[in-house]
Amino acid sequence: MCGIFGVRGGHDAAALVHLGLYSLQHRGQESAGIVAVDETGTARAHRSMGLVSEGLRGNALSELRGRLAIGHTRYSTAGSSTIENAQPVLVRFRGGYITLAHNGNIVNATELRRELEAEGSIFNSTMDSEVLVHRMARSHRARPEEQLADALDGVEGAFSLLVASGDTLMAARDPRGWRPLVIGSLGNAVVFASETCALDIVGATHVRDVRPGEIVIVDGEGMRAMQFGAPLEQRRCVFEYVYFARPDSRIFDGGSVDRARRALGRQLGRECPSPGADLVFGVPDSANAAALGYAEETGLPLELALIRNHYVGRTFIQPSQEGRDHKVKVKYNAVREVIDGKSVVMIDDSIVRGTTTRGLVALVRAAGAREVHMRIASPPVTGPCYYGIDTPSREELIAANLSVEEIGRHIGVDSLGYLSLDGMLAAVPGGPGGFCHACFSGDYPTPPPTDPDKLRFGCGC
Ligand code: 5GP
Ligand code: SF4
Ligand code: MG
Repeated sequence: MCGIFGVRGGHDAAALVHLGLYSLQHRGQESAGIVAVDETGTARAHRSMGLVSEGLRGNALSELRGRLAIGHTRYSTAGSSTIENAQPVLVRFRGGYITLAHNGNIVNATELRRELEAEGSIFNSTMDSEVLVHRMARSHRARPEEQLADALDGVEGAFSLLVASGDTLMAARDPRGWRPLVIGSLGNAVVFASETCALDIVGATHVRDVRPGEIVIVDGEGMRAMQFGAPLEQRRCVFEYVYFARPDSRIFDGGSVDRARRALGRQLGRECPSPGADLVFGVPDSANAAALGYAEETGLPLELALIRNHYVGRTFIQPSQEGRDHKVKVKYNAVREVIDGKSVVMIDDSIVRGTTTRGLVALVRAAGAREVHMRIASPPVTGPCYYGIDTPSREELIAANLSVEEIGRHIGVDSLGYLSLDGMLAAVPGGPGGFCHACFSGDYPTPPPTDPDKLRFGCGC
């Protein structure tokens, strides 16, 4: 998954992008980058591995002058974790420069890349996103938005994009609307961001979403929009509400992530109550809002039983398993005074591999819990995501290989309950239709990519 942020207007666009990226750090922690374009049309890039606070600072930032800038936070669903794959992409071609930041995953990237390579194109990275820049540069149409529309013709999959060329900033969203992308206004400047929490940090007002299948263009003539491609059935990623987006954001036409998570928790309380339990707590931070909803619904007291070390990143966002295991141990501790001798309900948003969950259950038992009842605010994850979220292959997904009862035994709980698919879809704003739920249901909106192995070549985010 990735976060994207762009500005046209204001006097120091890169400074605004820098701030915005801080609020999108949760969407990607492997690399961060900004490209800024100055008044003479010169585009400058600064990208680095690691967090926004680690890599984007000092002199490098002050050199990013101009009124137009885009930025990106990345973790690799695609292409390996190297600086060549950090975004935004920046290329120079006969028409000047093109820079692009992408959140999502292009499902037919392998085919599109082979076509281009057969005609002589040379690639710098292993990201799917680079394909889009090549396709744009080959368009013979005059205006940047026409070139972008040409480039997107025949591209299948999930993409929320920010693209700049010349004096024009553009935002585009795939016709199924898989990933969020919002428009904000800040004085004379137009701002685009993956989530509204990034508009808040720069003081921009949320205007509306970029619509599925739409290109929004901002240039010297102001802001306008055009549709590309035929409209398709909506497939917004339901996992954005379950886990990915920040609770203080509104995504997908104003749906509150906080309200969605509380509703998921309440629905979980109705479907999987825990009679006889003493208290409930969420696995911080991602399950806190769902735990609130569960407590509201069941009347159980909500406690703070697990403490998270905030100086350790998201356990899951680690390219290798070794890194993940190590981080589980340093990330959480249990509060004995809350748990000792109690029958507890532990809420989490999802179980993917089961590694973190199993470690957490052991922690809670070691702190004296008499019984541990695990409740999950989404259904079992039974398949990989091809649309921009780095869920692992089927072999590593615990629910693709074990029954709910077996998972319960594996993670060491007294009982385990998951939210139903229908319950989840009924609880999220704008549901139940119009969502992608493929990783839970197996109902994939596209054929799977021919080359899903991200380290060879494939999807990028
Ligand atoms: P597991 O027990 O599967 O190892 O880890 C479960 C934890 O991973 C949950 O707390 C959940 O919040 C988190 N998680 C679930 N899905 C994802 C994901 O796609 N990306 C990231 N970064 N974390 C996830
Ligand atoms: Fe979201 Fe799952 Fe669909 Fe991927 S497969 S887009 S994570 S709902
Ligand atoms: Mg979590």
